[in-house]
Amino acid sequence: MKSRLYITIVILIFLIGCAPDKNKNLFEGKWIDLTHEFSEETIYWPTAETFKFDTVFAGITDSGFYYTAFQYCSAEHGGTHLDAPIHFAENRQHVNEIPIERLIGKLAVVDVSDKALKNRDYLVSIDDFEKWERIHGKLEDEIIILINTGYAKFWPDREAYMGTAELGQQAVAKLHFPGLDPKAAEWLVKERNISAIGLDTPSIDYGQSTLFEAHQILFEQNIPAFENVARINELPSKGAYVFALPMKIKGGSGGPLRIVAFVPVSD
Ligand SMILES: [Zn+2]
Repeated sequence: MKSRLYITIVILIFLIGCAPDKNKNLFEGKWIDLTHEFSEETIYWPTAETFKFDTVFAGITDSGFYYTAFQYCSAEHGGTHLDAPIHFAENRQHVNEIPIERLIGKLAVVDVSDKALKNRDYLVSIDDFEKWERIHGKLEDEIIILINTGYAKFWPDREAYMGTAELGQQAVAKLHFPGLDPKAAEWLVKERNISAIGLDTPSIDYGQSTLFEAHQILFEQNIPAFENVARINELPSKGAYVFALPMKIKGGSGGPLRIVAFVPVSD
């Protein structure tokens, strides 16, 4: 019994000794926060309530200690957020039901900013993905795709970012920003096996969409989408990892998302 305890202690000391080096190697590289801050400037869909942030208390309490607390109110689909499959596909996953493995993984960054910045209604095509594959190889199974349209640089200017600063139902027809061509969404679900897809505009379907077909096609296959993602332009086309963890709202159709990327040091 005594010798077993001794061996356990030796193993523990060995593991503790190894841990710092292991961690150092695992996280040698750069973290990039792909999340826009939530504030009163945060962009929401024209028909949605914007972010509310009220002070509950800030200052010195009657008992003499310092204390701060706020309360916030937010639509699920605003700012940097995740769309759960149930948002556009019946009987598909709610935000709390998406397996975590689908939200963490290897990253492919497809850059269409040259074309999209010249054409607000640009549709990201099959050709854009095939072009990426000609350089970097076939999109791996369970990869997460982020599309750089270049529009994140306009945040938080609503008009420049989404085509109109107006609010309300009449503003929806005036939305102009790039999105994923439904034909490319079809290609991704039929010909490839991706875990998730995101971009730096308010919606995976372009601003002029009325049927939200890219949403429908992806969500039918339980592939979630990340919208209003920041700083995609700072990522390499291949080799980074993404961690996209939304607020775990039970039964939610989406939610605020903290999304970060890790870019390992290349050897
Ligand atoms: Zn959404």
